[in-house]
Amino acid sequence: MSPVNPLSEAAPKPSPEPTGASNFIRDIIIEDLKTKKYGDAVIQTRFPPEPNGYLHIGHAKAICLDFGLADEFGGKTNLRFDDTNPEKEEQEYVDSIMKDVRWLGFEWDGLYYASDYFDQLYEWAVKLIKDGKAYVDDLTADEIRKYRGTLTEPGKDSPYRNRPVAENLDLFERMRKGEFPDGTRVLRAKIDMSSPNLNMRDPVMYRILHAEHHRTGDKWCIYPMYDYAHGQSDSTERVTHSMCTLEFEDHRPLYNWFIQQLGIFPSQQMEFDRLSLTYTLLSKRKLLKLVQEKHVSGWDDPRMPTLSGIRRRGFTSEAIRNFCGAIGVSKTNGTLELAMLEYFVREDLNKRTPRVMGVLRPLKVVIDNYPENQSEEVEAVNNPEDESAGKRKVPFSKVLYIEQDDFREDPPKQYYRLSPGREVRLRYGYFITAKSVVKNEKGEVVEVHCTYDPATRGGNAPDGRKVKSTIHWVSAAHAVDAEVRLYDKLFTKEDPNQVEEGQEVTANLNPQSLEVVPQAKVEPSLANAAVESRYQFERLGYFCVDPESQPGQLVFNRTVALKDTWAKIEKRAG
Ligand code: ATP
Ligand code: MG
Repeated sequence: MSPVNPLSEAAPKPSPEPTGASNFIRDIIIEDLKTKKYGDAVIQTRFPPEPNGYLHIGHAKAICLDFGLADEFGGKTNLRFDDTNPEKEEQEYVDSIMKDVRWLGFEWDGLYYASDYFDQLYEWAVKLIKDGKAYVDDLTADEIRKYRGTLTEPGKDSPYRNRPVAENLDLFERMRKGEFPDGTRVLRAKIDMSSPNLNMRDPVMYRILHAEHHRTGDKWCIYPMYDYAHGQSDSTERVTHSMCTLEFEDHRPLYNWFIQQLGIFPSQQMEFDRLSLTYTLLSKRKLLKLVQEKHVSGWDDPRMPTLSGIRRRGFTSEAIRNFCGAIGVSKTNGTLELAMLEYFVREDLNKRTPRVMGVLRPLKVVIDNYPENQSEEVEAVNNPEDESAGKRKVPFSKVLYIEQDDFREDPPKQYYRLSPGREVRLRYGYFITAKSVVKNEKGEVVEVHCTYDPATRGGNAPDGRKVKSTIHWVSAAHAVDAEVRLYDKLFTKEDPNQVEEGQEVTANLNPQSLEVVPQAKVEPSLANAAVESRYQFERLGYFCVDPESQPGQLVFNRTVALKDTWAKIEKRAG
């Protein structure tokens, strides 16, 4: 299948290559089903997050693959928490992960925890010791690192490598009983200290850690390493296709080694490219730092790339799923433009959101020839993309607010909005012409006096005369106050991880990533807008009601702006 570029001309292209629905993993699954590699068993996948933070958009890619492919082939998907690092894991994260997976639109078949398998994993470790394939090592962590060798030099056997089986069994048992302090001993697999693959040089299977676990409490003071727990957990759940990101490719021989030595269900690991986006950090550890150091208001700050953050920002799960489907998978890591994700968000919101009018930075307009103390209702289309969304009435009166940006006393070339003597259309209202201005003591325009043409009601002149611009507005007497939060990129660098020596990623934070507009005016139909409801504010972008919003104290987040053609013209000219 040839790659599809889902982007319109105006949006920047994703780099390095626009990817279509290329999916080599699907091809492997089709082949395995054809050859009956797993007999008549259905496809079984799993999504295995570590509950050490909130899920981010990178995880969404993995979730869409794990659940999407199983669904496609009538298979099943488990949610399994990879909870082998008790010091970093918490119930709060478990809860948020379940909520986010469901929000994305997926429901798991089985719910498991690696900690469900701690007893079984321990028994298997004992078996490996008995088979002469694992040993207790007394070297320190530093020594183990030194003995491991490098990519160009083979490793060196630990002096404890040939301990008799009985001694290993005794020591491992006593490790479990808590007789030794943290870090004094480990259990290692006995594989090959000169393997070209460093992961095969007698990897650590268990370490001593006297830490309280969020589920098993203080039952254990030894914990399995990821590599020892993951494959066996997959195997226990009879996972047929275990998908993970490319950095685990070199771990695959070890994954297979444990399964082969134990003679258990042969799950197969397959690797795909990790999602990276420009201007975005996708690492739970680094995102945690932003939360802990209060650079953001929390995991669900609308600037965060977490699923809870982008949900609060107003992204839809459909847009995320469409994005994940379009980017496909590959065998090399690359970085996609953040603009590409935004493109999918706009495309989805364009179809589903009702249009409304709101003015962020109000400028008063008085229509001199409109009757005092009178108002009327004009008819507005709710969604030009969706006729069934119907129409609504919007109040119109003598005093209105328009956007400060939509008036220039001294208009530059190609500026077609309101200016003295210029006629423009008020969306769904009338044609108005600016006549004079009132200024404050600082010389700023605070009021524009206009006249309107009653014959242009609804927005068209019977004599067919044209205007070059249509602007949005609200009626001052009817408008509702709102706080509006505008967001920009959280980082100023395309690759936020790129820092000068001694600097942290926080050095790349964008100080202008949040702008609060305290006194916006929105049309009265929004007075009771529900939390999480989404709108297009005409000409301004897509907005979503924040959970902090209350009747009488509305708060909107801008999800994403519409493309601003004026900014582009100005940029070109400037
Ligand atoms: P982080 O570094 O953010 O903690 P992780 O890989 O350690 O990420 P896990 O909780 O272990 O996070 O990940 C669960 C699953 O999600 C894994 O299969 C992992 O490969 C996948 N995943 C994590 N980040 C990405 C990403 N950026 N793109 C695609 N898949 C990802
Ligand atoms: Mg991890």
